[in-house]
Amino acid sequence: KENRSFVGESISRIKKIDEKINAFITVVENANGKIPIAIKDNIVTKGIRTTCASKILENFVPPYNATVVEKLIANDFAIVGKTNLDEFAMGTGTEYSAFFVTKNPWDHERVAGGSSGGSAAAVASGQVVAALGSDTGGSIRQPAAFCGVVGFKPTYGLVSRYGLVAFASSLDQIGPITKTTKDAAYLMNVIYGKDEKDATTVDRKINFEEYLESDFSNVKVAYPEEVFAEGVEEGVKERFEEFVKFLQRKGIKVDKVSFKELSYSVATYYIIAPSEVSSNLSRFDGIRYGKRDEQEGLLQTYLNSRKNLGKEVIRRIMIGTFTLSAAYYDAYFEKAQKVRRIISNKLNDLLKEYDFIITPTSPITAFKIGEVKDPLVYYMMDIFTIPANLAGIPAISIPFGFSNGLPVGMQIMGKRFDDAKVLGFANYIE
Ligand code: GLN
Repeated sequence: KENRSFVGESISRIKKIDEKINAFITVVENANGKIPIAIKDNIVTKGIRTTCASKILENFVPPYNATVVEKLIANDFAIVGKTNLDEFAMGTGTEYSAFFVTKNPWDHERVAGGSSGGSAAAVASGQVVAALGSDTGGSIRQPAAFCGVVGFKPTYGLVSRYGLVAFASSLDQIGPITKTTKDAAYLMNVIYGKDEKDATTVDRKINFEEYLESDFSNVKVAYPEEVFAEGVEEGVKERFEEFVKFLQRKGIKVDKVSFKELSYSVATYYIIAPSEVSSNLSRFDGIRYGKRDEQEGLLQTYLNSRKNLGKEVIRRIMIGTFTLSAAYYDAYFEKAQKVRRIISNKLNDLLKEYDFIITPTSPITAFKIGEVKDPLVYYMMDIFTIPANLAGIPAISIPFGFSNGLPVGMQIMGKRFDDAKVLGFANYIE
């Protein structure tokens, strides 16, 4: 009975405060289970509307659950709602939701980050104790940083993507957004695992809670000197310097290294991700998936149905169609794949010498709603988070102080499959 009221508490808090935050697209008032959790609305939930914050899926009620949702239900979690995101998870501020903008709980004039802005804001404002997000280029970690909570992107292949509406399949991973690293580790134990429905999942036994009590004073940590480049907010640089000193005071060896490939990560990602988008989103044509705008003739029906997609999604489809086209494939897509390999190799080489690589999660703190007009400005914000997706390695964002009254997040990346150590280390310094 006590547990039952825990879910009830969460739902009453959502009803009370979410009209100020706008974290939820759908609230499930009769949710069953013991631990209230929110799910990003690009992860399918049987019988619960799943919109991807897009007009084209406005009324889509999936007939099945994503694997992660099945696992949560089996472990007594209660899905209390579906959270807002940038349409199809393409964006950085949840401003590209087709429905409404999610507000940052610390300052309602500012964004909660994106694309998992609804999940991060729901946790930060105490509406739920945990949420799931998805991370293709930073969408779990960056909103976690903007909202002052913990966000973890696992090693690619540890968590099943079955039932996650595909954005860029070679980069997408589902992961937890929580108040503490301990909660993130606990959730990872629930949601990870080999799944026959996702051929990219790996069969590996990991106890994500294994290192939560370990001593990490003997580890070696590196940070790229490029983190002090132009475009990084003064307050973020200051917090980062303090973070380095904080680690050193604990006896940890922290070295500055060169990672000049970092500057190519944004360009590489913004070719690879849209290329995969142009292919993955072709199914939303009003015939196979999505709202149908019936017209005379099939072509016109396709064309009209596709008008239910938003501006940013269309932009990515067009870029991706271009970069994959026969005449430009070598110059763009193939080149980007090669650069992806170079960036991956560089990270993996550094991680042979060092246990962890640290950076700020985002070069800036939460910006004002409506302030950013140029898509390229948004794209540049992903500079520190993208490399972990390109390399498939685990990365966490943890809160570390404030800049101008807004939360700052620090990112810790580790070796592939060293997820438990990344979580352990984050918990050690939290
Ligand atoms: N901001 C990035 C983008 O717009 C990352 C999004 C994500 O991780 N889903 O693509």
